[in-house]
Amino acid sequence: VKPGETYVLARPDAPAFFQIVAEHMRLVAPRRRFGGDAGFEVLERAGEIDWDYGHDPFPPKRYLLPPVETLFHYRADGRLELEPPKPPEPTALVGVRPCDVNALHLAGRFYSGPIRDALATERLERTVVFALACNRAPRRECFCICCDAGPWLESGFDVQMTDLGERFLMEVGSEKGASACAPGASLLRPPSEADFSSQARLRREADASFETTAYVAKAMTLISADEIPRAAWDNLAATCFRCGACTHLCPVCTCFTVYERPGGGGEISRCRSWDSCQLAGFTREASGHNPRDTQGRRLQRRMFHKVSYATVQRDGAPGCVGCGRCVAGCLTDLGLPAVLLGLRRSVGAGPRPRVRVAEKEPAC
Ligand code: SF4
Ligand code: SF4
Repeated sequence: VKPGETYVLARPDAPAFFQIVAEHMRLVAPRRRFGGDAGFEVLERAGEIDWDYGHDPFPPKRYLLPPVETLFHYRADGRLELEPPKPPEPTALVGVRPCDVNALHLAGRFYSGPIRDALATERLERTVVFALACNRAPRRECFCICCDAGPWLESGFDVQMTDLGERFLMEVGSEKGASACAPGASLLRPPSEADFSSQARLRREADASFETTAYVAKAMTLISADEIPRAAWDNLAATCFRCGACTHLCPVCTCFTVYERPGGGGEISRCRSWDSCQLAGFTREASGHNPRDTQGRRLQRRMFHKVSYATVQRDGAPGCVGCGRCVAGCLTDLGLPAVLLGLRRSVGAGPRPRVRVAEKEPAC
């Protein structure tokens, strides 16, 4: 098996193929649960993979950075004894939608940046991602096509699978993907011209299947030019419950907070958990001063990190992959497309703003 090559895996052989993969690494894949919901879980048996799961409401970033984790333990009774965490297991993440593959890249870029997060970076390095291209938008809220993040990938995958019905087209994109596929190579066959034609037809149909759009380009211009009146941010944020669901469900959001948890016998645990820029305490300083003291400013911050030229310059892509989770998860319709539409309307039909590319966030 080589990077750049494409193979065919017969659907009835998929359980055997991924069972072989699971002999070499932890298998994480979508499974249908009691009650009908589907989501990613650690699986013992590859036959449980649900290839028609649609969309996991919870992002795969939890396999890079768990919602709550203990970083290490120490004793503070006069001598310092550190107990570091166990090294991450090699993992195959199977069936990841293209938007979430792009989100993993963005999160990985953050964790491997100037202040390197060794734990999250190592987890990503030890993860092989089997992307599953979307043959249609998995749900009404999806708009990855507006963010150039789906419904299928041109590059950046270890393996990209396309469901052709009775078989999967398997595009191998990296050495990691090739190594993960190699033990099951006897189950892979060469593709035919008809397989590529079917894939091209499915891609055309997928591109035409979206119901939700987001004015990303227009919003990027407005936000980057800092042309949105403060009152517009405040009006938009007026209905926010400050629950943090939008950022916790977002596969691209990476913020966390760190704290100490005392245990018995003088042992102390250094922990971290996901945090949200939509919560008032996120930027509150020890003095009590909060530089983002209104929900409007917190919404402005969130959108700057999602949709601005500065973000694109830094990361090479917007900070949104159009997964639609903030649309589905917000009780008050402050998902990203609704906010961008509100911003567009708040500026009205005046002249287009002159764009200066902000080097950093607007001063608060
Ligand atoms: S901002 Fe919303 S749509 Fe975009 S990646 Fe995050 S959760 Fe998904
Ligand atoms: S999910 Fe909606 S209500 Fe909750 S913090 Fe985000 S914008 Fe506010």
